[in-house]
Amino acid sequence: MRRPMIAGNWKMNKTPAETVALIQELKKIQPKGNVEVVVCPMTVSLFAAGAQLKGTEIKLGAQNVHFEDKGAFTGEANCASLKELGVEYVILGHSERRQYFGETDETVNKKVLKVLANGLKPIICVGESLEQKQTGITNEVVCLQTKAALCGVSNAQITDVVIAYEPVWAIGTGMTATASDANRTIAAIRRAVREMFGDAAEQVRILYGGSMNDKNANELMSQPEIDGGLIGGASLVAEKFEKVVNYHG
Ligand code: PEP
Repeated sequence: MRRPMIAGNWKMNKTPAETVALIQELKKIQPKGNVEVVVCPMTVSLFAAGAQLKGTEIKLGAQNVHFEDKGAFTGEANCASLKELGVEYVILGHSERRQYFGETDETVNKKVLKVLANGLKPIICVGESLEQKQTGITNEVVCLQTKAALCGVSNAQITDVVIAYEPVWAIGTGMTATASDANRTIAAIRRAVREMFGDAAEQVRILYGGSMNDKNANELMSQPEIDGGLIGGASLVAEKFEKVVNYHG
């Protein structure tokens, strides 16, 4: 059984002080079942978040990291620093980073390997554009992104990997993939993982992300292949995030 995960990607929202306030609200949530809850604030808010989350069940995630250990990389953060702040998960290859910051399959792969080597766990984002969806090449795109990201990952490491299927056209738009389409695409991603890692693919959690919210979480989470959600907008409002976490109703 794969443990369900609900992760909030706060993007460039919430100052350190606002982060503390939101986490104080989130700490009141009582997750039903075995759901693993993760919050991913801005890098500059991770210190405050880590202090707030100490001793709680809520896990801390970062939104990016550099693939080198240290050195002349102005403006970047390394894995060692994230770990010191209590970070456990790192979102990698989010479509906004691919679109605005030149992230490529190659840099995503380098980051995945560095994150795993440091004992952190990547949440690797893959997803097709609207044009790719309309061309009918969704599976090809997401499977290639998945395999490229996982190049060089060992069999021992693969179970620490989380993948998020995030159709680019669904992110922040209010348009969601239908539950059955998301389920089918995630099944294709799992087959790609299986081609590389065999039966261990059954232990890899694959989330859905893209306008998932308090209204549609239950239907999406009812699908057998969907192991959780990566939540943007709806993770910034405690009441909405709580409903997503407790999607069982
Ligand atoms: C995201 O950015 O990962 C995301 C899924 O955003 P939203 O939920 O706002 O579509």
